[in-house]
Amino acid sequence: MKPFEYVSANNVAQATQALGTERDKAKILAGGTDLLGEMKEYIVSPDRLVNIKTIPNLDKIETDKKSGALRLGALVTLARIFEDKSIAQRYPVLVQAIAVSAMPQIRNAATIGGNLCQRPRCWYYRDERTLCLRKGGDTCYAVAGENQYHAILGGGPCYIVHPSDPAPALVALGASVVITNGAKTREVPLEKFFVLPAQDPHRENILAQNEIITHVVVPPPAPGTRSAYIKERERDSYDWALASAAVVVTPGADKRTIASARVVLGGVAPIPWRAAQAERALVGQALSEQTIAKAAQAALAGAEPLEKNGYKVPLAQAVVRRALSLTMA
Ligand SMILES: Cc1cc2nc3c(=O)[nH]c(=O)nc-3n(C[C@H](O)[C@H](O)[C@H](O)COP(=O)(O)OP(=O)(O)OC[C@H]3O[C@@H](n4cnc5c(N)ncnc54)[C@H](O)[C@@H]3O)c2cc1C
Repeated sequence: MKPFEYVSANNVAQATQALGTERDKAKILAGGTDLLGEMKEYIVSPDRLVNIKTIPNLDKIETDKKSGALRLGALVTLARIFEDKSIAQRYPVLVQAIAVSAMPQIRNAATIGGNLCQRPRCWYYRDERTLCLRKGGDTCYAVAGENQYHAILGGGPCYIVHPSDPAPALVALGASVVITNGAKTREVPLEKFFVLPAQDPHRENILAQNEIITHVVVPPPAPGTRSAYIKERERDSYDWALASAAVVVTPGADKRTIASARVVLGGVAPIPWRAAQAERALVGQALSEQTIAKAAQAALAGAEPLEKNGYKVPLAQAVVRRALSLTMA
């Protein structure tokens, strides 16, 4: 590992200042479960690590008294969210997604902020010797290579898939992230936080070099809302998603037809992928096996598999079907 300077920040202003403005010169260190692996494998080699775990109050789970929104500090670990009974009751989709994220040892250290900013698991990106498009080269080796785990939606010119499980759940819940550079703070819908490779193949999100996520805010669920997360992976002990689906469905006044629906796919696109056509197929309908089958079909409209990942289309349809079935009363 390349030698680096280590700064423990006492507050947000100190952290953002230590990050500076020169791209990738300094990196934020939270739980370190992703970043330290990247450094050991020479995927990233920052000159400075900015430890944010020393910033007080970023590890709090709170409910906003006025709005009823859940406010998660960026340093809250996945394990704490998983164990929180009130979160499980209000936002089952989030806790179900965390239950299948990594394993207990990782969840004890991994923070929610770090989870949303974790880097892709593409094996070309993670290979020290491969200068792929994402790392500043000019080729995405997945296009003509071993692309069985890659994107079938939203890909090109790079075909990574977003590795986070909590992210699709949080997008389905309409969550936002609070971002600051010390001087300016902005709240951005999580859906708008992620960046497609066509916009910029070198980054996964909109964060500037000197910005950090301080909080994740999840609005209160509307009465009667039901939600579920289903993930398929190769190894059940721990693994990233081959395909996953987060669904959040709210009934109308008649309690029978669906007033609003969010269907978000994981493991199939470079960002948590909102399946707008599936959502349209659900709204105004009663949740029946037929409606669910139509929505699952619609969720993969526009999918463009590469040579070796065509299996992801029926797999993703199946996880959408299963997740929606769980929301049937
Ligand atoms: C073996 C293994 C299996 C895994 N399986 C899964 C899985 O199935 N599902 C899943 O979702 N994840 C999985 N993960 C990923 C894991 O959840 C992430 O590594 C973890 O959540 C990252 O959090 P961290 O606090 O350790 O982040 P770090 O490693 O400290 O940081 C990760 C990245 O986020 C940046 N960062 C951290 N905090 C902030 C912040 N507040 N603001 C801005 N940028 C920030 C860092 O600079 C770095 O680039 C797995 C990881 C491992 C090692």
